[in-house]
Amino acid sequence: MTMSIIKFWDFVCDEDSLHLAESLTGARVFTLAEIGITVGRGTPDAAVVQHARDAGCIVLTGNKSDFVREMRLAAQRCTPAECFEGGGMITVPSGLERLAFAKMTRNLRLDGEKIDWEDVFLCNLHVDIHRSGVIVVKRLPVCEFFVKNHVVDCEVCQRLKIGIGA
Ligand SMILES: [Zn+2]
Ligand SMILES: [Zn+2]
Repeated sequence: MTMSIIKFWDFVCDEDSLHLAESLTGARVFTLAEIGITVGRGTPDAAVVQHARDAGCIVLTGNKSDFVREMRLAAQRCTPAECFEGGGMITVPSGLERLAFAKMTRNLRLDGEKIDWEDVFLCNLHVDIHRSGVIVVKRLPVCEFFVKNHVVDCEVCQRLKIGIGA
């Protein structure tokens, strides 16, 4: 088993969630501009998904419906040469003022299995924070090439059942 000392993940805040950046205690948090997105009217969410993954960032956004759709489309856009898949996201209800990040980190579970933010990033998971405070972690669709090239040999993906009927 290989141990990696490289930390893969940081966070990038969508425009609607910038106020939550300071809640992410101990994590590195970037703005869209800082990962190379030109922010303005009509910034395509698809570009955010791809840039975030390339920059090693989990997306934090209040725009759940659009980003769930973009994450699905991204997995369909992949070719053998290029992968457009996302690197995980946190969606928050509108009006949320702060995140209990440390508590959230301790309690992250997928189907009852303990996971961490690296799993969220590498396995493209969706951490959905409900208005009630309940946190639900779901798998997002992954592309066939990711399954073929990575999932089959990855202990984490196997354990978390990534790419199996997603
Ligand atoms: Zn892909
Ligand atoms: Zn994996």
